[in-house]
Amino acid sequence: MKNCFMRVHRWISLGMCLAGLVFAGAMFAQTSTSPVVIKAGRLITGNGQAPLSDVLILVQGNRIAAVGSKIEIPAGARVIDLSGATVMPGLIDAHTHLLLQGDITADDYDAQLLKESPQYRTILATVNARTALMNGFTTLRDVETEGAFYSDVDLKRAINRGIIPGPHLIVATRALDVTGAYPLLGYAPNVPVPTGVQVCDGPEACRRAVREQIKYGADWIKVYADRSYYVLPDGTLSSIPTFTPAEMGAIVDEAHRERDKVAAHAMATPGEKTALDAGVDSIEHGDYLSEQTLAQMKRQGVFYCPTLFVGDYVARGRAQAGAPIWEKMIDIARQSFGRALNEGVTIVFGTDAGGFPWTENEAKEFSYMVKYGMTPMQAIQSATSIAAKALGIDETVGTVEPGKEADIIAVNGDPLSSISLMEKVSFVMKDGKIYKE
Ligand SMILES: [Zn+2]
Repeated sequence: MKNCFMRVHRWISLGMCLAGLVFAGAMFAQTSTSPVVIKAGRLITGNGQAPLSDVLILVQGNRIAAVGSKIEIPAGARVIDLSGATVMPGLIDAHTHLLLQGDITADDYDAQLLKESPQYRTILATVNARTALMNGFTTLRDVETEGAFYSDVDLKRAINRGIIPGPHLIVATRALDVTGAYPLLGYAPNVPVPTGVQVCDGPEACRRAVREQIKYGADWIKVYADRSYYVLPDGTLSSIPTFTPAEMGAIVDEAHRERDKVAAHAMATPGEKTALDAGVDSIEHGDYLSEQTLAQMKRQGVFYCPTLFVGDYVARGRAQAGAPIWEKMIDIARQSFGRALNEGVTIVFGTDAGGFPWTENEAKEFSYMVKYGMTPMQAIQSATSIAAKALGIDETVGTVEPGKEADIIAVNGDPLSSISLMEKVSFVMKDGKIYKE
């Protein structure tokens, strides 16, 4: 494409260049200016009502114009027959790492930061963004780049400009943790190594770090609230908290002052308490959630992003690498999920994709949610309308309703009777453009 802009001294060349750009765009998305009508055999609107049968969805431009059984099909409309499929809103994954390629062990993680440049990792991330979209995920909240600086902001820009295919992105940039708490760890003091987060110590330094991340494009702030997990004699999980209450308070105050929200990685009570007392907006992982913690979350309107599949995926490898606690944590997390479901805490679909390689379909999380107690409909809602509301984007996405952005997917068959069908998305439309058919 560089040659294009070296040849623009002649208008004819410019015309050819522009034609080339349009063609390049068409290769990954079928843009249609004429209306599209989707014939849905079964429609899950996402708002919790029972599925509708034989519904038409009219898409005009990037919006859903009408939904119903008696829609007049406009002249010249393209009709897409999904009468054998279940149609639903584009999926939302509220916990991903596009810049990571799986990190079962510390060695996996360290190799990515030590041997791959942020530029190379960003190239890989463009492939991951495409993979997520093709799996039916039209929106991601990507909760930190793991040492790849502000590459997520660049990814978001390239997707929004139509340069690469990918989901709508809400990005958290670098994340925050204190000195000595986040990899890379275990190297000699005289060997300088990168850190997977932005380190800050003390309330003022942490406030400044939040300002810097927002300056460079953070939509959310991500904090690591605890580390070093261990099982107490009563079988519950505990941890070492990272930030002091004063530091966490400064982070949340500054983020909220600038109208950003805060996601807290917190896996046990000590981290969850510091994060919740400071007023964070979501608890990530929450492997152990006591009744008191769940009550505080409910009182404060904090959502829970459980990431169940990844816990199972990394457990054996981490146990073999000398940390058997990860195997015990599977059952602890399962029980916490059940308690949260009983207590009515808002549960938002999140997978930690990138913690496992992107070659694994992140939609496997659905089966875990159902195995651990949700109905298939509850699991689908947690990845559509409930996620949209929790992330504050429900005016534009999360349901198939007139006025919403046309983010629509379909799976063959009925995922309400077989939830693993969510891993086989056959149709993807984002912003009215078809990416998979
Ligand atoms: Zn994560």
